[in-house]
Amino acid sequence: MSATVRTRFAPSPTGFLHVGGARTALFSWAYARRHGGSFILRIEDTDLERSTQASIDAILNGMSWLGLDWDEGPYYQMQRLARYAELAQQLVRDGQAYWCYASREELEALREAQRARGEKPRYDGRWRPENVRGRTPPAGVQPVLRLRNPDSGTVAWNDLVKGPIEIANAELDDLVLLRADGVPTYNFGVVVDDLDMAISHCIRGDDHVNNTPRQINIYRALGAPTPAFAHVPMILGADGERLSKRHGAVSVMQYAEDGYLPEALLNYLARLGWSHGNDEVFSLEQFVEWFDLDRISRSPAQFNPEKLAWLNQQHLRARDDRLLAEEVAPRLAARGIGIAAGPELARVAALYKDRVTTLEELADAAAPFYVEVYPGAELLARHLTDAARDALRLLRERLETVVWERPQLNQALKDVVAARGLKLPELAIPLRVVLTGQAQTPSIDAVLEAFGRDTVLARLARHG
Ligand code: GLU
Repeated sequence: MSATVRTRFAPSPTGFLHVGGARTALFSWAYARRHGGSFILRIEDTDLERSTQASIDAILNGMSWLGLDWDEGPYYQMQRLARYAELAQQLVRDGQAYWCYASREELEALREAQRARGEKPRYDGRWRPENVRGRTPPAGVQPVLRLRNPDSGTVAWNDLVKGPIEIANAELDDLVLLRADGVPTYNFGVVVDDLDMAISHCIRGDDHVNNTPRQINIYRALGAPTPAFAHVPMILGADGERLSKRHGAVSVMQYAEDGYLPEALLNYLARLGWSHGNDEVFSLEQFVEWFDLDRISRSPAQFNPEKLAWLNQQHLRARDDRLLAEEVAPRLAARGIGIAAGPELARVAALYKDRVTTLEELADAAAPFYVEVYPGAELLARHLTDAARDALRLLRERLETVVWERPQLNQALKDVVAARGLKLPELAIPLRVVLTGQAQTPSIDAVLEAFGRDTVLARLARHG
């Protein structure tokens, strides 16, 4: 396809980047990448009360962490007020919009009266030019700008996810385009921006489906073509309710902190409401190659933290050991643990990467290789029996001189259990407890090898 594909992600900076937003961003981004187009980031900061710089930073961080790079932007709507004013003037000139001076109280009274009559509340067009001929606007009132919505006919589009949708104009009223303070409403800002930014495909959450006919009417009023629309179904929690904090972590950066890999979260989000055969574990490159809008499911997707954890495991175990070491080192540092004096971290990561779910767990597993461990009293009482201590003493002697490689280490363990008439776990488990504070570890010879002779002898001596 052509390079004219231009998509965007247009978050409102009123909170962190949540998984739903991230999935919308991913789909928009992937569609642009798939078709050699451009992906634009736009911050819709017109809600002056709820927008914050902290939230802008959180969104940019989240996007960067996920690796969803943008080609243009971030654009900020509050820096584009002059442009909205300019197009507002054009609409007024063309008879497509008009200034409305109705006060809040007046509109409230109108709604009340309509409700009392059992009608749907809607603006009655009282400031449409033909209704106010000869009337002077009230002094001192800053008007809002309203779209002159067509009274009849329909608005229709072929949604690239949901299929054909049609709404009667009679269902829509003259919506506000500019507030009295000159700040555009969401619907006006989004249309002007999508137009100016030459967006070809507007991919967004289906909570905006109701806005789309209004936006199409604004495009028409501006005499502009509309982009294609693709409305992605929302994400639900396990209880069928819309995903929210109640369902656990929903912030992208919370997953970062908890030790999820961006690749795994993206893989999970990609599969949430989109599929490619039975493929479950794939890379971002693979996703871009496969992605198309017609494979997006029409029904809502259910968020499943267990599946996300499972995918994280899959990506962890496939990850390069050195990369893992780079990611785990700062997590150890955050625990006050330096790695300089211990074994190579990549080696420890290799030992544990298929046994953990997150980088945090990997850091926990790696910690005993770099700091003293003090096994709990209960663990010691259970596993360090007199027979075990005796066997560990003998092992210590053998380990002083053995060649420090897995086959020789293995042989030493076998010799000791044979000499004392034990089964291997009766030596291996106490040894694990002494070395790591855990009764379970990867293969004991590999663990010994990674610890190195000095640390092993020192820890055995403490329990001798
Ligand atoms: N700012 C809107 C939101 O965050 C964007 C909707 C759209 O993509 O048009 O929901």
